Amino acid sequence: MRALATVRFMVAPEEGTLSKLLETIECYMNALRLVVGCAIDTRETKLSRVSKALYYLIKDRFGLMGYLSITAIKEGVEIAKSWLNNPSRGRRPVLRKRHLTLYHRYSYTLDLENFAASISTVYGRIRVRLLHNKSYVSRFRNWSAKAAKLIVRGDMLYLHVVFERGIKEKASKVYYGLDINFKEVVLANHVEAIRFKIAFDRAYHYYRLANELQRKYSRIWRFNKRILNRIRYFYRRARNIIEHTTSLVSTLIVKYLVDREASCVMENLRDLKLNCMDKSAYLNAKLNLMAYRKLQIKIEYKLQWHGFRVTYVNPRNTSRICPMCGSRMKKRGGRIIECLRCVFKADRDVIASLNLLKKMGGVWFCPDSPADVGMKPRPKAGKSTRREINTHHSTPA
Ligand SMILES: [Zn+2]
Repeated sequence: MRALATVRFMVAPEEGTLSKLLETIECYMNALRLVVGCAIDTRETKLSRVSKALYYLIKDRFGLMGYLSITAIKEGVEIAKSWLNNPSRGRRPVLRKRHLTLYHRYSYTLDLENFAASISTVYGRIRVRLLHNKSYVSRFRNWSAKAAKLIVRGDMLYLHVVFERGIKEKASKVYYGLDINFKEVVLANHVEAIRFKIAFDRAYHYYRLANELQRKYSRIWRFNKRILNRIRYFYRRARNIIEHTTSLVSTLIVKYLVDREASCVMENLRDLKLNCMDKSAYLNAKLNLMAYRKLQIKIEYKLQWHGFRVTYVNPRNTSRICPMCGSRMKKRGGRIIECLRCVFKADRDVIASLNLLKKMGGVWFCPDSPADVGMKPRPKAGKSTRREINTHHSTPA
């Protein structure tokens, strides 16, 4: 099993080399624009054909050394391909984010012992220092470096490096289903339900403010600097809240799981269709979807460092069907829902989590189910806390 880690280093070029680095980035971006433009104009996305047509042109016109030209062609073809394959594509892609894609040993090398990197440019190799907490950098000494990106942000340069390491996969002893709503993330199985508080309702507040402005000034918001800045500010706030919260919560969840040698089951969001009845519910769902996906990615990313894999299942009907007997459930005020057939009653997030678990491992828990093998409920360990699910463990009628 491979674990990946992406690390962002702030870099400081040596005296007088900054302009050379920036010039290389500019050349690379121009090459990329040329490739994307050509590929889209000709509808040609086969890498070998595009390379054949453009390689020497790019090398001569932009002065990029061999491997940087190849990288520009590869990346450009990928961008063109994804745009052409997008059925709801809008305008042609505009490449604004200034960067330089690099491959370890081909176009850059890392020297973590001396906290430095050397990057190939149109003027040959240039050495930069890595400005990052030294103990943090040392952590990646026995990882192998993969692709990297040199990114310009404001007047700072950053090097984003992907590290990889082979990790021995471990078998999970327990599984938890993971469900998310605006106020909390719920991690539940048949023994316990743990709730992690989150503040997405605040993110949703900013998200809605931005949306209201866009609707109010539906014609001019794109062109009016002040309105545009305000809208950007609201979206940024919403995004920051989600980014920050998911980072914190994913760390807590991963720690909880790793301590118990457990893994978790999550919804495969590709199978989920947004059922947009009214505007506000739709916005709500859209933001929640974004946050959930962010959280999933972070949990998967952090859990693999410890050798555990997460599972994705189709979320269809997970909040509607009884995890015990499979019949439809009825709302009982608030977030509580109840099964009419077997009197199983729980919070809807817990129900969703249990159903996710059930989908992964087949039927468990239901005492008279023919498929009742493997995942038997485990006796609860330790003190009884409020973590316990308030369920009715009776047999179905
Ligand atoms: Zn039931």
